[in-house]
Amino acid sequence: MYAAEFDYHKASSVAEAIQMLGQYPDAKLLAGGHSLLPMLKMRLANPTALIDIGGISELKGITVNDGTVTIGALTTHQEIAASQDIQNACMVVAEAAEGIGDPQVRNRGTIGGNVVHSDPASDWPTVLTALNARFVIQGPGGITHRATRTVNASDFFKGLFETDLKENEVLTAIEVPRLNSNQLAEYAKMAHPASFYAVVGASVVITVENDRCTAASIAVGGMVPNPIRASSVESALVGQQLNAESVRAAADLVANDLSGSLMGDFYASADYRKAMAAVETRHALMHAIGLAHH
Ligand SMILES: Cc1cc2nc3c(=O)[nH]c(=O)nc-3n(C[C@H](O)[C@H](O)[C@H](O)COP(=O)(O)OP(=O)(O)OC[C@H]3O[C@@H](n4cnc5c(N)ncnc54)[C@H](O)[C@@H]3O)c2cc1C
Repeated sequence: MYAAEFDYHKASSVAEAIQMLGQYPDAKLLAGGHSLLPMLKMRLANPTALIDIGGISELKGITVNDGTVTIGALTTHQEIAASQDIQNACMVVAEAAEGIGDPQVRNRGTIGGNVVHSDPASDWPTVLTALNARFVIQGPGGITHRATRTVNASDFFKGLFETDLKENEVLTAIEVPRLNSNQLAEYAKMAHPASFYAVVGASVVITVENDRCTAASIAVGGMVPNPIRASSVESALVGQQLNAESVRAAADLVANDLSGSLMGDFYASADYRKAMAAVETRHALMHAIGLAHH
C-alpha cells in the first residue's frame, strides 16, 4: 500500500523543527523512518506533512562524562552498538543496540525515534527504564511547560505508543547514568524470529557489595503497553547472595508485578508471555552474575 500524500519539509536545527511543528499542524517528525514509514504505508498515520530532522547535527552523537552517558536522539542503533565510549561506560546499552532488528534497521533507526514511537515490543523502553535514563525534551515553551525539560524514564513511557512528549516538542537526547564498578547490568529478550522485536524483554541493573545485592532495578516489557518495574523481584533480590537459587526464586515473582493489561497476539498469547517474563528475567540475572553467557 502507498502512503497518502504529504508535504515534505527539511529542518536544519531543533529550533526550526519546533517552529515547523507549530506552523504545520498534524505534521510528523521524520528521523530514520523505520517505524513511521510502515505506519504511513499501512495508513495507520496520515500526517499532512513530514518534517525531516535527519540532517540536524545537534541531535547526533554520544558524549560521556563522569556520571552520565548522553546519547543524541538521532544517534542510530548501530552507532550506539559500535561506540567504544558506551561499551566502556554501560556495556548493556551497546549490547541492546546490537540486538535490534537487522543491519538495515540498526543503520537507519534512531534511539530517539524508537522511544518516541513507544512500541511495546521495542527494546529501548525496557532497557532505559531499568537504567533510570532521563529524556531531554525541547519545545516552544509557554504557559504550560518550559522550553527545555527532562523527564525520567518511569514518567516518559505512558502507554501503548504513548509518551510524555507534548505538542510541538522534540526529544533531543537521552541521558543514561554511567554504571559503577559494583553494578551489573544485562538485557535478555525472547526475540521474534522475523523482526527481532521483543516478544518479552527483561532488563536488570543490580548493585553488589560484599557479595550481596544491595539494590536492584528491573524492568520488563514486550507483553505490557509500556515497561513495568518488577518491584517484587527487586525486593526479593536485595539483601541476598546472588546464586542460581536466589535468582530463580526472585525471578519467579515477576508475575506479581504485571498489571491486568497483559497483551498477547497470534504469535504469543498473554499467558505464554507472562510465563516467559520469569524466564527472561532469570536469564538476564544469570547473565549479570556470570552464570550464563551470550
Ligand atoms: C523490520 C524491523 C525490525 C525491527 N526490529 C526492532 C527490534 O528488534 N527492536 C527494536 O527496539 N526496534 C526494532 N525496530 C524498530 C526500529 O528500531 C525503528 O527504527 C525505531 O523504532 C524508530 O526509529 P526511527 O529513527 O526510524 O524513527 P521514525 O520512524 O523516523 O519515527 C518514529 C516516531 O518517532 C517520532 N520521532 C522521531 N524522532 C523524534 C524526535 N527526536 N523527537 C520527537 N519525535 C520523534 C516520529 O515523528 C515518529 O512518530 C524494527 C523495525 C523494523 C522495520
